[in-house]
Amino acid sequence: MVELYSHSRLCLYENCPEAYKAKYIDRVFPDIPRSIQLFLGSLAHESLEWLYKEIKGGRSVELDELVKHFANNWHAQFSPDIRINSGEVGDYFNKGVKFLVDYYQRNKPFNENTIEVERKIIFSLDEDYGIMGYVDRIVLNKDGEYEVHDYKTNEMMKTQEELDADRQLALYHLGLREIFGKDINVKLVWHFLAHNRRMESARTPEELGKLRAETLDLIEKIRNTTEWPACGKQWCDWCAWKKSQELDKKVFTRKGNLSSWS
Ligand SMILES: [Zn+2]
Repeated sequence: MVELYSHSRLCLYENCPEAYKAKYIDRVFPDIPRSIQLFLGSLAHESLEWLYKEIKGGRSVELDELVKHFANNWHAQFSPDIRINSGEVGDYFNKGVKFLVDYYQRNKPFNENTIEVERKIIFSLDEDYGIMGYVDRIVLNKDGEYEVHDYKTNEMMKTQEELDADRQLALYHLGLREIFGKDINVKLVWHFLAHNRRMESARTPEELGKLRAETLDLIEKIRNTTEWPACGKQWCDWCAWKKSQELDKKVFTRKGNLSSWS
């Protein structure tokens, strides 16, 4: 049987081996409440998914309907345990509305022949390992090219060089070849919603071959890993959680000492 890896799983190993071990090997990764950034990102994705499904169904969607979809979803799904490290809830809500308004204005009337939304992709890299992921949107354009579209909702803007070396969408290119045929032309498209920018890249067959080999090397490296150092970075959920546990322990010990004095 083929063992499946995702881009995010590979990223977790690259960022924090200890977190990877906790999540995928020991399976003790804590159920940490999600951050407001993650919440906002998933709701923006859901509204765009809805938009394209409506359009695929032959309906035209007005801007205020799209914003309403986002707002209703926000109110239905928001919960008080969502982590907010800085700013107010309302700032994030307004940010989400702005993402959608900008996206709508820039991309209307959405007649670019979207053939799939939130498409699950599974394919093998060799006889032992495979890749699994979800493509936000697939377009078959009028030149007969397949376009892999991805929405990014974080503040980070990438350079063209970074996109030309990006692993995630290039892996989806490999996956699309399994679904639609080896000889298809594929364009990779990113929508950086926080910057209202669209950027593109593409891969040659040689680059795809190299990507396949490098990804297999990385998986092999993970399989042979015996030391799992923590990254210790502030934004790492695992490392932040560990730190909070240590703080709890300190408070507890101090309390323990106090009670032994009395
Ligand atoms: Zn970490």
